This record gives sequence, structure tokens and C-alpha cells, in this order.
Amino acid sequence: MGAKFEELKPHFERMMALKTAMILFEWDDATLAPKEAGKLTEKVIGTLSGEYFCAVNNDKVRELAHACEKEEGLSEAEAAQVRELLEEIAKLDAIPQEEYQAFARLTAGAVRTWTKAKEENDFDAFAPTLEKVIDYQKKFAGYRAKEGQKKYDVMLNDFEPGFSMELLDTFFSVIKKEIVPLLKAVQASHVEIDDSFLTGDFTDEQQEKIGRFVAEYVGFDFAKGVMAVSAHPFTTNLHNRDVRITTHYGKNLDSSLFSIIHETGHALYELGVRDDLTQTLVGEGASMGMHESQSRFFENILGRNKSFWVPIYSKLQEAFPENLGKVSLDAFVRAVNKATPGFIRTEADELTYSLHVLIRYELEKELIEGDLQVKDLPRIWADKYEEYLGVRPENVREGVLQDIHWSQGSFGYFPSYALGSAFGAQMYAHMKKEMDVDKLLEEGKLSVIREYLREHIHQYGKLKKSREILKEMTGEDFNANYYVEYLKEKYGELYAL
Ligand code: ZN
Repeated sequence: MGAKFEELKPHFERMMALKTAMILFEWDDATLAPKEAGKLTEKVIGTLSGEYFCAVNNDKVRELAHACEKEEGLSEAEAAQVRELLEEIAKLDAIPQEEYQAFARLTAGAVRTWTKAKEENDFDAFAPTLEKVIDYQKKFAGYRAKEGQKKYDVMLNDFEPGFSMELLDTFFSVIKKEIVPLLKAVQASHVEIDDSFLTGDFTDEQQEKIGRFVAEYVGFDFAKGVMAVSAHPFTTNLHNRDVRITTHYGKNLDSSLFSIIHETGHALYELGVRDDLTQTLVGEGASMGMHESQSRFFENILGRNKSFWVPIYSKLQEAFPENLGKVSLDAFVRAVNKATPGFIRTEADELTYSLHVLIRYELEKELIEGDLQVKDLPRIWADKYEEYLGVRPENVREGVLQDIHWSQGSFGYFPSYALGSAFGAQMYAHMKKEMDVDKLLEEGKLSVIREYLREHIHQYGKLKKSREILKEMTGEDFNANYYVEYLKEKYGELYAL
């Protein structure tokens, strides 16, 4: 370790402490905090985020970070932390502080405006705010763009470094060309899949009990994590000894069950980060897409695979004898893979999911780079749903107002969701050459699969970018065809195409 890095260390520790505190308050706010705590907690988080801003963005830290850039003898992990810090500083430097703060105030209010507009099914109430958010984001991207770089590419790079519009255009054109007709063929097949037994009056206790069992079975370590209930399931990561997942319980058994498997996938990633990286700026998953690759891998590729349930389906039947007692494993697996085009992205099945993302990608690109006007969004949104999914949302609550992302200023985030599925399929194709995945699942040996993912992905945190991880793991750059082939094979079999 160099002398300058040694000097930087307490600053890093301060940044991480503030960040950890903020994250913990946010987690608490969404799970256990009493209803009336909200307003004051918001104030606490606001103060902490201001402190974090100052901890990163001050003359001493800048000076040390630049000195470290030239320092010799840094370990790989130390050099990566310096690189990450310099990127963070460059991002903050590019934007005038008054504008940055004005934007933070705008988005805090924008989320509230969006929530109310969604409740009241009133797009016009949100449109002026959304216009302002977009204007800011375009301005900021303009400040940050390298010469010749497009604004939307700057935004995309925040979530998935290495994936520009050029690459995503190719990816989504493959999705459009292959998945839209595949869905039409599925619908034309008239194969009816019964999934009625997945709905019922299950108690929270019943669902929680089996949820905890499945989380642990997949590999969640309750000595290093907890599980709670929130409106929308999510995973929070403090460090590799404290990773928290949430779920929700309702009338659909598969909804809580598979969201728990999904969040456990996220959690395994964070629990697997190396000790010398955790609680540093590079001590978390490589990118949004790489994270989704892990959650969706466990949820869909493993979790909706018949072999996964062979050792534990009887447990599920015992937990829900009235609903599942007489349902065969085959019938259960068919039910949890049923494809039904709908309006809501977060409830979409594995086949239609990427089409929801395709629509958002096309719209974002037009909003940022083209001439799509905010006022036209509801209509164009509905047109695209009709074209790609064959369903037309009748109201904006189930249409353009369903996602929180735009109100938070997150443009460029959505593509990561589809990329994650595609990364997972590419990994799966490769893994099957190295091990008999089905057999391991049937024997309940998930630890072998976990260990493989830890070795190739999880341990590195942010040391490597997603494309680098894919290339080193599978021997090949990102290739969307694996995803298309995976879906074609799976749904071709399910719907006898
Ligand atoms: Zn996720």
C-alpha cells in the first residue's frame, strides 16, 4: 500500500459509514419503521446524503485521489477504489452544485407527484414534472458527455458500462424479431395451462415459513442476512456480513415464492463479494445487469426448472395441502411457467418480460435523442403494448405511470433488466458444458452451482465490468442469441410449437 492511499483510507471509511447508515435508514423506512417516522427519517437521510456528498467532494479527497492515481504499489483492489472515486468525483465535478441540488429537490417532490398521479390515474398531473426531470437529465448528460458521445449513452453507462445504444439496438432488434413472433405462436397454440391452484387464501405465516425454507435452500445465510416484508420486494446490501431481502405476501403463491428466490439471487451476489472488497467503493455487484443476471438466474433458469423442485416439491405440498396436495410436479412446473401477456412489467412472466423492457428502451431513446413529446407518451405507450404484447392498457395507472424510475430521474436503467436475463442465459449455456446442472438440481447440490458463480462473478464485486466477466466466464463476448435460443427451446416445449 502507498503512503497516499494510506492517507485516503480514513476518508474511504467515512464515505462507507455514511453510505451504510443511509442505506440502513432507507431499508428501515421501507420495512419496519412506524408510519409516522417517514417525514423525519427523510430529513435524516437528506442530511446524511449531504454529508456523503461532502465526504467525496472536498479538496483534500480530490488531491489525494489524484495523487493515488500516480502512486505505485497499489493492489488491484486499492487501484480499483481509486478509479471508482475518481469517476465519482468527475461525475460531481461536471454538474454545477446549485443545479445538482435543485435536481435533488425536484426528484424528491417528483416521486410524490408521481405516486399521487398514479393513484388518481392522472397523467397530466405528472407530465409537467416529468418534462422538468427530462430537461435536467439531458442537461447533465450534456455536461458529462465525452466528445461525440450521445446523451442517452451517458445515461446508459451509469447502469451498464460498456453497453451503448449501438449494442442495445442490436440486442433489442433480436428480441423484437424473435420474441414477438414467439409470443404470437404461443398464443396461437391454444395450449391451456391450468394455474388456478396457485391462487388462494394463504396466510402470511404459511407463506413466510416456506419462503424462509426456500431462501435457505437456495443458499441464503440467515446468520448474515434477514428477511422482511415491504410493498415491493428488494435487496439491501450493507456489506458481505449483512444482506437483507424483502418480499410481499398475497393471494398468489408463486408471487412471493419466486420473488424470494429472485431476491436471494441478488443477496448471494453480495454475500459472495471478497472480504478485501466489501465495505469499499468497489464492494458491490458489477452492474445493474450483472445483478439481475444473478437474481433472474436463480428465479427463472433454476427456480422454474422442474429439476429444482424434485427434492423439495413435497415440502411445498405439505405446506399447502389444499391447493397442491393433488397437483403433480409436472403440472406445478407448467403453471409457474405459463406465459400471459399483461400490462405490468413486474408481474410479467419470463417470456413476455423482455418485451416490456423493449418498449421502455424505445421510448427513452426517443425522449432523450428523438423528438417524442411527454404529452404523447400515454398514447405511444399503449400503441406499443398493442403491437408487441397484443394488449392495450385502458388507463395510465396500468400503462405509462406504472414504474417509479422516471420520477427518480433514472433514464437508462430499464435495459439492464433485459440484459440480466440475457447474461444469465449465456452463462447457463456455458455452465451446462462444464457440469450437469439438472442432475445437480435433482440431487439438491445447489452449493456446486453457487460456488461456480461465486468463483466467476460474485467475489470480484466491481473489479471487473460485466462484459469482461461474461467474456472470461463463457469465453465469448455478450451474445443475445443464447437468450433467444433458451426461450425458444423452453416455450417451444411447453406449448408444443
Ligand atoms: Zn432484481
